[in-house]
Amino acid sequence: MKNFKLIKPEQEEILGLLKSIAEKELAPKVAELDEKGEFPMDVFNKLADAGLYAMNIPEEYGGLGLDLKTRVLLHEELGKVDAGFSFAFFINSNNADIILDYATDEAQKQYIARKVMEERALISVCITEPNAGSDAAAMTTTAVRDGDDYILNGTKCFISGAPLADVFIVCAKTDKTKGAKGISLFMVERKDGIKVSKEENKMGIRLSSTAEVVLEDVRVPASNMIGKEGEGFKYIMGYLEHVRFTTMACGLGAAQHALDLAVDYAKTRVQFGQPIIKNQALNFKLADIHIRISAARSMLQYAAAVADEHLPMEDVSPATKVFVSDTTVWACNEALQIFGGYGYMKEYPMEKLYRDARIFPIFEGTNEIQKLVIARLLEKNG
Ligand SMILES: Cc1cc2nc3c(=O)[nH]c(=O)nc-3n(C[C@H](O)[C@H](O)[C@H](O)COP(=O)(O)OP(=O)(O)OC[C@H]3O[C@@H](n4cnc5c(N)ncnc54)[C@H](O)[C@@H]3O)c2cc1C
Repeated sequence: MKNFKLIKPEQEEILGLLKSIAEKELAPKVAELDEKGEFPMDVFNKLADAGLYAMNIPEEYGGLGLDLKTRVLLHEELGKVDAGFSFAFFINSNNADIILDYATDEAQKQYIARKVMEERALISVCITEPNAGSDAAAMTTTAVRDGDDYILNGTKCFISGAPLADVFIVCAKTDKTKGAKGISLFMVERKDGIKVSKEENKMGIRLSSTAEVVLEDVRVPASNMIGKEGEGFKYIMGYLEHVRFTTMACGLGAAQHALDLAVDYAKTRVQFGQPIIKNQALNFKLADIHIRISAARSMLQYAAAVADEHLPMEDVSPATKVFVSDTTVWACNEALQIFGGYGYMKEYPMEKLYRDARIFPIFEGTNEIQKLVIARLLEKNG
């Protein structure tokens, strides 16, 4: 059903291209890649060769310059085939937003035009540390000025895409006495000596690799600082405010896939002499899943429109993150229930969809932290 999707002809065209490549190149091997926990670089390159790369990068740098409303739809479409792959494929150019929004023209030429566009280098964003997750401002990674350079030391954990990344946007304290206002951002290349260790063995989104990143006396030129000293935390929060919409759309794709499979299954599974879809208790469940997914999709489109118009997102961003990710987990769980015992078996796709769904309330700011932000806004503004 296309309800609740206001798709324009030009969006339809690009969605169709993405869908056809993903269904041909990715879908047949998703189960195997999930088992191995592997990111398929060949599929990444096939999508990129078809022009589906760097959707957010402005046309002047050779990207597609698509608005967020369209990108959210594309993330969901690819998420229907695999939420983890969709997240990992797009996060690369999404992460480039930080450079586009805050770095100098010179840095944009070097990192966007050369690294991202020419070399298809992957970018990871390193915020989280073993003892600084939700309380990101408590990070202890440091960047100390030494002549024309900075020397970085610290350990980052759970970094998406790190095993394959060539460029790392690292948050580090340039002034340990100033808390969040002492954090600055640096572009660090793998060749600068950054070490990627301990690849995580995850429950879900296993096509997206995740690893620890260690910085031991990593020296970078002072010109690698993004924007102004001490403004890094503000930049990262600004980036997370809108990148959450595209990430949550990947999860919504998994939820839609779970619903589609559950409808097909309910039409063919016969118990008590009739397809189980004939039971109102069950077909109401399907209707409820459809209603909530549609509401989540509408909310994402609204949030993306707000971001495209550069309007304030202080409540829109956390509220959308919570609703869409909770819907994703709930929908996959309900759809799994419709499969009964088969839903619990690895031979069927539902258990993977549920495992994939489970990350969305956790990363890019846990849902508890999002509620904390909303509650504080309500207290302050009424
Ligand atoms: C697969 C995956 C990929 C990731 N990718 C990246 C990445 O690319 N880059 C990056 O920097 N990070 C990444 N992360 C890290 C992610 O953003 C953090 O895991 C997340 O912010 C939570 O931090 P934490 O795991 O330390 O949990 P904690 O902060 O320790 O939280 C534990 C629990 O306590 C709750 N809690 C904490 N404080 C409060 C409070 N004040 N009030 C109420 N509840 C609270 C949390 O909501 C949570 O339920 C990734 C994580 C995962 C799992």
